Amino acid sequence: MVDKSLLTEIFLELVFSVNAENKEDLILKKSMPLYLRKLNCFLAGVLKKEGDDLKELMIIPFVASKSSDWLSVKDFFSHPHGDEKEICTRYFFNDFYYYGFTLTGYGVLILGRKKAFDDLFIKELQAVVLHLGKVLIQSNEIERRERAEHKLRESERRFSLLMQESPYVIGIYDSTGIQVAVNKAFEDFWGLPASGTLNKFNVLKSRIVKNTGLLTYVLRAYQGEAVSLPEYEFNPKGLTDIEGGGQLRWLSTKIYPLKNQLGEVDNIVITHEDITERKKAENDLLKAKDKAEESDRLKSAFLANMSHEFRTPMNGILGFSELLQQPVLTGDEKNEYIEIIKQSGARMLNIIDDIINISKLESGEVEVLISNTNINEQIAYVCSFFKDEAEKKNICLNLKEALPWEMAFVNTDCEKIYSILSNLVKNAIKYSNKGCIEIACEKKGDFLEFFIKDTGIGIPEDRLKVIFDRFRQGDMGNIRAFEGAGLGLSISKAYVELLGGDIWVESEIGKGSIFYFTIPYNTKSEPKMALMI
Ligand code: ADP
Repeated sequence: MVDKSLLTEIFLELVFSVNAENKEDLILKKSMPLYLRKLNCFLAGVLKKEGDDLKELMIIPFVASKSSDWLSVKDFFSHPHGDEKEICTRYFFNDFYYYGFTLTGYGVLILGRKKAFDDLFIKELQAVVLHLGKVLIQSNEIERRERAEHKLRESERRFSLLMQESPYVIGIYDSTGIQVAVNKAFEDFWGLPASGTLNKFNVLKSRIVKNTGLLTYVLRAYQGEAVSLPEYEFNPKGLTDIEGGGQLRWLSTKIYPLKNQLGEVDNIVITHEDITERKKAENDLLKAKDKAEESDRLKSAFLANMSHEFRTPMNGILGFSELLQQPVLTGDEKNEYIEIIKQSGARMLNIIDDIINISKLESGEVEVLISNTNINEQIAYVCSFFKDEAEKKNICLNLKEALPWEMAFVNTDCEKIYSILSNLVKNAIKYSNKGCIEIACEKKGDFLEFFIKDTGIGIPEDRLKVIFDRFRQGDMGNIRAFEGAGLGLSISKAYVELLGGDIWVESEIGKGSIFYFTIPYNTKSEPKMALMI
């Protein structure tokens, strides 16, 4: 014969596998077999039955944690016979009586059919079932508490992890203002170990808090209000004696009240978010926007200027061509007109060259072609090219200092060097009415430094930086005074930078300007594509 308690357990397993829907059922599942075994022993003991006799008494347990389950059991057993409120209820089924016991609060044990369920037996059984109920409640309570404690521990662990790893600077203060918790970011922010302030610093009494105006917001939080401060700049490490004194940071500060179950504020949380990077990005964006707008404006000004720049030489060409057709012209007059037409043509060609160069630079199509270049020769070419033009304005063009012959050969892009020098000398002549233009080149460290010095009109200080930008002319108000598209210097700058050098200017209004540029000496750099920024 199969062991009764074993049968019971098997049956119980079956019942639970169908009904175990929530954790409570699982708890009962764990503890019930034990109690049912105890109950079986008790029955066997009370009734002094053994072996086959016990079969009649076999417990058919059903533990219903839900009333719907209990109802289905009751339906199965048809009508109860007896008072359901009693702890033991009688059911009639298949010509037999069954006896059901309610386990306080937890469900029902249905016991086997037995004729000999006399009053005494039921009474004794009642006590056992009650006890069983109590134990179940207790064990369930313990389980519940353990689960709650586990939940609490988990939530504490999560909270502490979140707080420690948070990029926000967090400090928690009790109802008296004493600091009770801080995170890692707090230590980095103030440059202090937590031990320096924890349980010592009082946010309500601090001088720094008062002086920075934070106290007003702190007090509002203690009154239950969640406060967001306007963004501000502050140097946290400047207050402590940190080496270097720290830096100004942009901060977004928020203060939250923490309320207890009675709704009273017993803690406040102060958080600082370092938004310096965001502010920087915002500023950069604004600058980029301004630059884009400025660039748009300059392009429009450039187009307007361009039309003037093309029209003037064009008018010259058309006008003097017409004059040339006149029947009576002296030889000198003819030559003069032809010279003007030639100059106008050259001026147009210049502008077209500049426009082509700048668009090549913009699209990154300019290549650097390195070859062994005689620098002295390039300077000499430029001097001889502009000699006549300078003389016409009564300006002398001097090569002040050339390189010693053996040092004059440099690996660089000779076309670019020529173009830079031409632009600078051309400008020096254009913006001068008297004096001398000096050109020089000397080796300084790993670089060759060139300068082109004139005694011209000079450049206003506030324009010194912008003249290297595209479409800029030194003085926008005086835009019509000198011909030019405002591209020469930006092309020169792009070329100098492509060669790995730098360009700058020193100037004084009315006295003249000195344009400097450098290129690496004897560079071995590989050819590269240009990109205009
Ligand atoms: P452009 O000469 O065609 O206007 P550039 O790019 O060559 O264009 O020069 C930009 C501006 O820089 C000029 O409009 C002028 O105001 C100023 N500039 C350049 N070189 C000189 C110089 N040597 N002396 C005075 N101003 C100069």
